[in-house]
Amino acid sequence: MSGLILSNVAKRFDRVEVLHDISLEIAEGEFVVFVGPSGCGKSTLLRMIAGLESVSAGEMTFGGRRLNEVPPAKRGVAMVFQTYALYPHMTVRGNLAYGLKIARLPKAEIDRKIGEAARMLQIEELLDRRPAQLSGGQRQRVAIGRAVVRDPRLFLFDEPLSNLDAALRMATRVEIARLKEAMPRTTMLYVTHDQVEAMTMADRIVVMNGGRVEQAGAPMDLYRGPANRFVAGFLGSPG
Ligand code: ADP
Ligand code: MG
Repeated sequence: MSGLILSNVAKRFDRVEVLHDISLEIAEGEFVVFVGPSGCGKSTLLRMIAGLESVSAGEMTFGGRRLNEVPPAKRGVAMVFQTYALYPHMTVRGNLAYGLKIARLPKAEIDRKIGEAARMLQIEELLDRRPAQLSGGQRQRVAIGRAVVRDPRLFLFDEPLSNLDAALRMATRVEIARLKEAMPRTTMLYVTHDQVEAMTMADRIVVMNGGRVEQAGAPMDLYRGPANRFVAGFLGSPG
């Protein structure tokens, strides 16, 4: 299978286990939303997949390769966080180009990728500005653009909209839905605590609690057939 497979994955910090026995198979191109209360291990799970945290037990494979044998920079993973860590002294164009220059892509190729991402995210008119001259929503679009230009095979979003107000959140959600259409082979994992985001964006929702997966399934299946009261409460299921 060419997607992402987690087999009995666990994570311990010192002696405290925060993720227990996580097993999931995520298909190539699937958009999977992770929900669950604060502290249940969502960020830690994404960080392990990105290679920012070690795996304490179990195995992760992506595209048939064992991830712990692939250095983080070679995993084809891009991650967008809640806070947009843009380089303040560079223009938007500079921010988008930075990783590509390090990867020594030819200039024409860099320009082409930046043009494409800027069009997709509607930030073309912002390319010569610096981050301080952008709104929060625009900064987050640039942060997403910086991930897009790297052509990730695995795109990880950790509560990317939670610093935005409601209107911007909706607009940016539309941008991400467009990305999903434009990058059909890219597997996307998306953490949120917003039920509406989860229900509208996900191919599949994974509900986590206390470092475990409570239930995983298509949004309407979970909503109509929650496995337990926790899942029902979390998704606002009737009855
Ligand atoms: P979530 O993203 O779902 O809110 P996290 O993945 O951030 O949860 O955290 C899961 C658990 O792991 C929490 O109990 C948190 O305190 C703990 N944790 C996260 N990072 C570290 C760390 N670097 N050292 C020790 N404990 C950590
Ligand atoms: Mg988190």
